Amino acid sequence: MNFPVRQKELRDQLASARFDALLISHLPNIRYLCGFTGSAGFLLITERRSIFFSDVRYDRQAHEEVKGAKVIIARKALVIALAEWMGSHLKRPGGISIGVEGEHLTIAEKKHFSDLLPAGVRLKSALGLVERERMVKDVDELASIRAAVNLGAKLFDKAIQVLRPGIREIEVAAEMEYAARVAGAEAMSFPTIIASGARAALPHGRATEKTIACGEFVVCDFGVILGGYCSDQTRTVCVGPAPRDARKAYEGVREAQQASIAAVRAGVRAGDVDEAGRKVLRKAGLGRYFTHSTGHGVGLEIHEIPKIAARQQEVLRPGMVITIEPGVYFPGEWGIRIEDMVVVGDNGCEVLTPTSKEFLAV
Ligand code: ZN
Ligand code: ZN
Repeated sequence: MNFPVRQKELRDQLASARFDALLISHLPNIRYLCGFTGSAGFLLITERRSIFFSDVRYDRQAHEEVKGAKVIIARKALVIALAEWMGSHLKRPGGISIGVEGEHLTIAEKKHFSDLLPAGVRLKSALGLVERERMVKDVDELASIRAAVNLGAKLFDKAIQVLRPGIREIEVAAEMEYAARVAGAEAMSFPTIIASGARAALPHGRATEKTIACGEFVVCDFGVILGGYCSDQTRTVCVGPAPRDARKAYEGVREAQQASIAAVRAGVRAGDVDEAGRKVLRKAGLGRYFTHSTGHGVGLEIHEIPKIAARQQEVLRPGMVITIEPGVYFPGEWGIRIEDMVVVGDNGCEVLTPTSKEFLAV
């Protein structure tokens, strides 16, 4: 990972954003910029240098992991050490303006920090600067994402081995999560969703004690974290024979997902990708059952920008990694969703998820 280049790209924005320095507090952003994977730290990027602050617990880890920044280990409370350092090192007639990650700091944290700072140092909200940089993945990141996606896809093979009438949702999730860990996953990207029967109509139905019955659709939405990067995939399987209307709806969702994938390429607006799939579902009379957005960016975090949703103006760029995940939900009856991860290219996209989307009954 080329941390100095990432820091430089951010540093280049300091002047135009009218900040003397940026204070990065959101841990995935810190990891992205300097490689630190621990749970306490701040990265300060000034016009000339980068300084990483952590506490004594991370003394060794910080020195080993952090690249492109000087490491300072605080012997007192981290925010106090940071405020003192800024007070003595950042000086300018007319005052200093520090950009902070407004969307990741609570009002109380911001106030506490402001109170510690010397007069003349002001905190201002800098929204999404690092997140915007993170939208486009570099070669190293794409390699990590591919590895995560391939490991994640293997869990679906495990799921279809064990899916049968009489098994509980939570057992299916447990088998998948155990297989993930044995294969080397650091963690799941999010609590595994195994939602069967009427619960499949809940777009975020986490696995419960419910027993899966014959004739039910089962939405399996899952992902792993490997090398810090997330995978995210959904397949919907029928246990036993599918009701005829549901079988038809499955093909509708599959066509919609294909239409959105076909719409992905550099230069297209995120909203157009959403519309491409939604149009297919509207034509099939299923438009009003597609109740969520089409997808999201994925990387160090499971939900990143860009958002792939109606009227989103963000223009796709080569190297963005997004999900395409349309679904239809009939409350009280059943639900279907299909989700792949794709990487945006100049003339189209590459589907990373290797799993078949053919209708599958087990
Ligand atoms: Zn998902
Ligand atoms: Zn997703």
